[in-house]
Amino acid sequence: MTTTTQHTQQTLAVQARGLRKNFGKGDTEVTALKGVDLDFPAGQFTAIMGPSGSGKSTLMHCLAGLDTVTAGTIHLGGTELTALNDKALTQLRRDRIGFVFQAFNLVPTLSAEANITLPVALAGGTVDKEWFQYITTTLGLNGRLKHKPHELSGGQQQRVAVARALLTRPDVIFGDEPTGNLDSRSGAEVLGMLQHSSREMGQSIIMVTHDPVAASYADRVVLMNDGELVGELLEPTADSVLASLAKLGA
Ligand code: ADP
Ligand code: MG
Repeated sequence: MTTTTQHTQQTLAVQARGLRKNFGKGDTEVTALKGVDLDFPAGQFTAIMGPSGSGKSTLMHCLAGLDTVTAGTIHLGGTELTALNDKALTQLRRDRIGFVFQAFNLVPTLSAEANITLPVALAGGTVDKEWFQYITTTLGLNGRLKHKPHELSGGQQQRVAVARALLTRPDVIFGDEPTGNLDSRSGAEVLGMLQHSSREMGQSIIMVTHDPVAASYADRVVLMNDGELVGELLEPTADSVLASLAKLGA
């Protein structure tokens, strides 16, 4: 199926057409993506869901330029990601994509503040101080900026990772189970912050999750099954997501 028609009037953060991804060769070849057409409107918070092995991580890795596709095209804004060489792709990931992973991936020897500004520093840029202030205040990190990661709770560490992702004003933030290592209260805080950054800051977010409650924070859920896009839910609730997954036998 395709979900391209209803969004044609909107600016797209990411557009995928005819995405195929094979792993391995011959007898052991696996087709992880079997021709996926998908639009991600700018400013929208989308969750990707589906049974284990349905291709969620593969899709996210391809969309984020972390893996190559076997066939098809991906556009990030006006740039065809699938036409870039390694060097250009590395630069595009650094400058235009934010990541929030399940493991927080903070540098243990650096303060929260230094972790948040690290990508900007590595890119030789200057930190927009007002934006930094706004993000860290919104994320409730003001009293924690001098602390090292091990002096922070899991929820605070993930909020640092979200701040780091937001600071460069990326075209899109990709999350792979961003609340997978958090207790439900901290997870709710982080998801609330992601939702806020989409609604109030216009941040485009694409998140892979297996958790219907996490998905309910998104504006839209796209459902994968066996390497294909099989459905879409707008304004999802935990119950509507659970019901849709149950139909897939997840
Ligand atoms: P999900 O994230 O939905 O659990 P994945 O995208 O990880 O699914 O996997 C989709 C399919 O591709 C599965 O059959 C998986 O075994 C296969 N796959 C994923 N990554 C690799 C890889 N690096 N090598 C071989 N097969 C892979
Ligand atoms: Mg996965």
